[in-house]
Amino acid sequence: MTTVDRRTVLAAGALALAGAAGTPAAAQAGPQPIFQVPPTIIPIVGETAVYQVRRIYCIGRNYAAHAIERGSDPNREPPFFFQKPTDAIQNVAIGAVADHPYPSLTTNYHHEVELVAALKSGGTNIPPEKALDHVYGYALGLDMTRRDLQNGMAAEKKPWEIGKSFDHAAVIGPIHPVAKVGHFSKGAISLAVNGTVRQNSDLDKMIWSVAEQIARLSQAFELKAGDIIYSGTPENVGPVVKGDVLLCRLDGLPDMSIRIV
Ligand code: MN
Repeated sequence: MTTVDRRTVLAAGALALAGAAGTPAAAQAGPQPIFQVPPTIIPIVGETAVYQVRRIYCIGRNYAAHAIERGSDPNREPPFFFQKPTDAIQNVAIGAVADHPYPSLTTNYHHEVELVAALKSGGTNIPPEKALDHVYGYALGLDMTRRDLQNGMAAEKKPWEIGKSFDHAAVIGPIHPVAKVGHFSKGAISLAVNGTVRQNSDLDKMIWSVAEQIARLSQAFELKAGDIIYSGTPENVGPVVKGDVLLCRLDGLPDMSIRIV
């Protein structure tokens, strides 16, 4: 067979396949999923477009006083990270008190109020001085934790995923673009339960800054647009029960509130 003949045969075969698939357009679109998985999105303040989440990273023990209350030395340990499943996001609108379901399997359910950075781009081995260029915006978040399960697994030297990764475990307010609110390196961050302040600190007490977190994370993972980073919680984490109303505050952003149901 000559080269021309072979091309003719291949083209005819492609046409036959397109016809067999029903419509040429369907053939061009490639394999179709048997069901649709909805994307995880977070609203953006002042925009009709939304932020699509790719991954949720969390940093552990990033405030010295919280590191001490969790039993580690804040001066020696490098930052460590874990992930929550993307669809663990629970969006909370400004001005709302969102119902947050008390999860299964725990009797010691803890709040952790945190600043969240949302990336618009990424890479690997990002230098700290370039890291903030990748941040699209910031939000207030709650890294909700089944502390008894986390501690129990840690005591057995097993992965404590079940304590951190479950439905609704990543509570978050809307994202505020950097273009409007700038970057956050200091400012009061607090959490009150039923009107009583429990966590009260300042972002300037973070051991690793957001830029340093991004730089470190990018050594371990290729970061991409859609990755969000829960930047750690200050001291005085503690339990909540059904009926409790949590109020999260961060200087420069609107409050965020949930009710445990
Ligand atoms: Mn946390």
